Amino acid sequence: MGLFSRNNNDDDDSEEEIEYVLFQGATNGQEANLEENRKLAAAGLPLAKEVVTEALALRAEMFKVEPQGPKALVTFFVDGMKRPGPRLPIQRANALVQMLKLLGGGDVKVRDKPQRCGVNAEYRELPFELSIKTRPAPPAKGQKAPAEHLTVVFRNTKTNRATPEDIGIPEVVKERVRHYGKLNAGVILVVGAPESGLTTTALCALRCVDSYMYQCYIMGDPGTRTVLNVPVFEPEDGHTLEHTFKRIQRNEGNLVYMVELTDPDVVKDVIQGSMEMTFMSELYARDAADGITKFVELVGNPTLAAEQLRMVMSHRLIRKLCPKCKEAFRPNPKLLAQVGLPEDTETLYRKARPPEPDEKTGELPEPCRACEGTGFRARAAVFEMIDVSEEMKAVIAGGGDSAAIRKQSKEEKQLSCQKDALRLVLDGATGLDELQRAFAPPGGPRRKKKPARRRPPE
Ligand SMILES: [Zn+2]
Repeated sequence: MGLFSRNNNDDDDSEEEIEYVLFQGATNGQEANLEENRKLAAAGLPLAKEVVTEALALRAEMFKVEPQGPKALVTFFVDGMKRPGPRLPIQRANALVQMLKLLGGGDVKVRDKPQRCGVNAEYRELPFELSIKTRPAPPAKGQKAPAEHLTVVFRNTKTNRATPEDIGIPEVVKERVRHYGKLNAGVILVVGAPESGLTTTALCALRCVDSYMYQCYIMGDPGTRTVLNVPVFEPEDGHTLEHTFKRIQRNEGNLVYMVELTDPDVVKDVIQGSMEMTFMSELYARDAADGITKFVELVGNPTLAAEQLRMVMSHRLIRKLCPKCKEAFRPNPKLLAQVGLPEDTETLYRKARPPEPDEKTGELPEPCRACEGTGFRARAAVFEMIDVSEEMKAVIAGGGDSAAIRKQSKEEKQLSCQKDALRLVLDGATGLDELQRAFAPPGGPRRKKKPARRRPPE
């Protein structure tokens, strides 16, 4: 297709007709004034459509545009793996960024400050929400206009109503959320990395609580997502957070869902409020243990944090094997014992081995169409939980770091992502190699060879 065509052969009739993404208005309701920005629209709109369509066609969950001197590099992220896209001249990249801002209800006149906005879109009859983030970059040599970094995250809004079962939250985690959700005290944290779909998981956790029995309210902006029978609580002008929590309590609120905890002042009010209501919140961190240390830091008092924290759940995304080309094999008993799988497991799956060239012609067979030869398609969440026991409380209150918390959690045999991931291995949804990659220590020996470089744009 146009700029990024993998197949520039015009005579090839077999190439499908390109179905472009349809932009359907900013998520904040702001109308894009194309008339006033005619020049920008002429330069930016076709390009925005091409890049976004390319990303969606690749099943990317995100793409970034990063200025590098006179060019800017587009990178797609598919199932968490980087895929280099085209290198655009900086003016073209600027037009792309400005156009997406215009479509997403951002301010195209402001280029020296970070912005967040969003646009609704439809691709192949599926609804998507694109959240758009920009931040300024120093202008390239010889260029007056400032350049900008762009990150676009896609979310299929069909998952807006995903249930705890849809995303595979284990029964033991659901049970603990239900238990702590009705105690009218304490804090439940849902932890994950940025851009990992944390809000989706956290709202699924909230759906574990029976909102007909226990009145729950959302504080903050959950975007276009809603939870049945859980209204967003609108604070009154001039009311402090403390005041607002009191009002929620007067409205017979049992549980308050906070969209994100980042501000120590907010956290102090949450701790105070959690003496008489349950609080549930998202928190960005690598895993549950890091989430706890971050929470303790925000509270500023380890004893108080330990006293009010009830449980932490966290999620990780791992790649699923391509159902079209994955290979079954009979695992040897030693391997099963090593990873902790039942010894009577007869079949496991792994990524298809690279195809052999044809004996006569030496040609490689066509790669699998479902996964483009990567062996993986889509991702699934796996879960970790730290249920704060008396012993864990002591570790946290004693100022224990993430390593100490992880050690205690291991001793108590709490659910880890690795352990939970074995459920997907047994189901044949993923393979042991993928777990090894996903759970390798950061910076460890895990570099895989890079995917083949795409053809640069003409
Ligand atoms: Zn495949």
